[in-house]
Amino acid sequence: MNNDLLNFAYQVQHANYQACIAPEGFGTCNKDVIKAHSIQNKQILEEIQDCGHVVMLLASISGFKSVDIEFKRIGRNRATIFTGLCHHHDNLFFAPIERDSIDIINPEHLFLLAYRAIIKQTHSLMNAAHQARLLFDKKTDLGLIIKKDALSEEEEYLLTRTFMAFKLHIYKQAYDSIYINQRYEDLCHEIIKINQEIPTIAVNAFFSFQRERMAAKYSGGVALNIFPKGDETIVIFSYLCSEESLVSPHINDILSSSGEQQECLLSKLILQNCENFAINPKHFETFSKLKIERIKEYFTKTLFYDDVDVNCEEISLF
Ligand SMILES: [Zn+2]
Repeated sequence: MNNDLLNFAYQVQHANYQACIAPEGFGTCNKDVIKAHSIQNKQILEEIQDCGHVVMLLASISGFKSVDIEFKRIGRNRATIFTGLCHHHDNLFFAPIERDSIDIINPEHLFLLAYRAIIKQTHSLMNAAHQARLLFDKKTDLGLIIKKDALSEEEEYLLTRTFMAFKLHIYKQAYDSIYINQRYEDLCHEIIKINQEIPTIAVNAFFSFQRERMAAKYSGGVALNIFPKGDETIVIFSYLCSEESLVSPHINDILSSSGEQQECLLSKLILQNCENFAINPKHFETFSKLKIERIKEYFTKTLFYDDVDVNCEEISLF
């Protein structure tokens, strides 16, 4: 384990996970964090809310390879929030897409949507590592960890969680650099517009198509933002232009399809990779019980396995 990783593991161990993770170019920030919306509240959640609520799929890991998930109505003020930035930095970074209407041909706006996704995901992985550490310490205190020559299951879990957070933390620096130097053209975007009768879904997520958890580097990251605008749903894929060859093969099928097929492929992608999405309750009411079960089943299986067969019309989120 190199020194950087050791130091990072140490920081995560001692950090309050409610910490502002503004890039180092802004100095180390000790200000109190706020509950910041990762999906814009005033314009986007406003569009998909019903009586002040949206529907979200909430997952909680309940054991090794076991997870509880449920669709729940969540108050819009609590939906999609995270505690990874202070008020000052949240406002500094995202005012352009909070104050003004999101302009999908403005490179700064497009960058900021992706930037918020990677900040949220980095914070989320740091949180997971932090929790793994707390769990590990508790188990150690209780004498529940069996010492043996190889790593114990708990040590391996802690190391994996910490390593995943560390890799994304390093990878995020490319985005921090784009922000600090205002080199927004270094981020490439693919945009799809879908005609919809009512606003259906909003997504703000960051993930990688390169799934190897213990691979040395994080690579092939893509931000996915989906939100209603007028009578269309806008879908934006954003990635480092230098990684186009890693990302394109995975999204080309979606870009070149249309209609129900496209919505179908997008739904699979969302359920495979994203937890941070909100559905219009009025739209959710049109889902049959069978469809809801199929969606939950697919979401759960893809947490642990990459290749899961599904009739994707049965799980369409649009
Ligand atoms: Zn801050």
